[in-house]
Amino acid sequence: MENVIILGSGCAGLTAAVYTARANLNPLVLEGTQPGGQLTTTSEIENFPGFPEGIDGYELTDRIRQQATRFGARFEHTSIESVDFSGEVKKLTTAEGKTFEAKTVIIATGARPRLLGIPGESELFGGKGVTTCATCDGAFYRNMEVAVVGGGDSAAEEALFLTRFASKVTLIHRRDELRASKIMAERVIGHEKVATAWNKIPVEVLADEQGFARAVKVKDTQTGELSEIEAKGVFIAIGHIPNSKPFAGAMDLDEQGYFKAIPGSQVRTTVSGVFVAGDCADHAYRQAITAAGMGCQAALECERFLMES
Ligand code: NAP
Repeated sequence: MENVIILGSGCAGLTAAVYTARANLNPLVLEGTQPGGQLTTTSEIENFPGFPEGIDGYELTDRIRQQATRFGARFEHTSIESVDFSGEVKKLTTAEGKTFEAKTVIIATGARPRLLGIPGESELFGGKGVTTCATCDGAFYRNMEVAVVGGGDSAAEEALFLTRFASKVTLIHRRDELRASKIMAERVIGHEKVATAWNKIPVEVLADEQGFARAVKVKDTQTGELSEIEAKGVFIAIGHIPNSKPFAGAMDLDEQGYFKAIPGSQVRTTVSGVFVAGDCADHAYRQAITAAGMGCQAALECERFLMES
């Protein structure tokens, strides 16, 4: 039986791995479907303390992984499909039917991008024009017109990144002001390649004759008028959904599916020996540094729990 199993290998899970490994707990990290987590699909991170020049998201997670490995953390590339937290021994089962047992579990499964749920979106997702990752797919749209949907920091970041490749980036937002931080909003609105489509809700992604995206049909929220915004690439950046499905029934989740911690703690849950960290339990801050901080807290709580039990 494992001392501690960490679910997820983003900033939260990897930081928990560094701390629990350094405490000689020999943690096993089940990496999930996206090793390195969401940071691997982001561009330069400018606000992680200690990196005045910024750092690439993939490099940051890779460095934390190396740090955890140095102290003895072990990694397995698998995902959990169901859990049994009813007894003292925590049981976790993968999609392939493999079962793990642990004294404690740190859940750091992160979140995934929210989608619009409009016609054309799923049909054209991936290689046909609709995507949620500018870093992954931006270079395919060199000298083409693209659109970004959303008004938060992610949308602003995606739009700015896309200006490196696209001839024009239209930011489609359902209100007339951005939710993004002031610095990001100023950068994006002031950019010569960025156009804004305020008060517009996408209602359909339209395809050309070859079956690739060609435009986004939008509805004006004030007038109800329909129009088309030309875009060969449609980048959706409208927030995230926590990855908590396998735990429904075993853990307390809020109405949006985020893990709930007990009052007075960010990381302890009502299930004894099970801790949460990062974006799967945090809808307020969702930063690399806050995820890392929660990973650290979860690891320290886990260590205390094992010492006391
Ligand atoms: P977010 O802040 O929740 O913004 C989501 C945006 O999508 C909002 O503008 C929202 O509109 C819009 N939206 C939501 N559902 C929609 C729908 N069905 N149709 C159309 N528009 C929809 O999410 P985020 O941008 O992913 O950012 C999440 C967190 O990560 C934030 O705390 C952010 O600061 C942080 N973040 C930071 C950085 C950075 O510091 N470099 C980068 C990325 C993210 P409304 O505004 O009208 O609600």
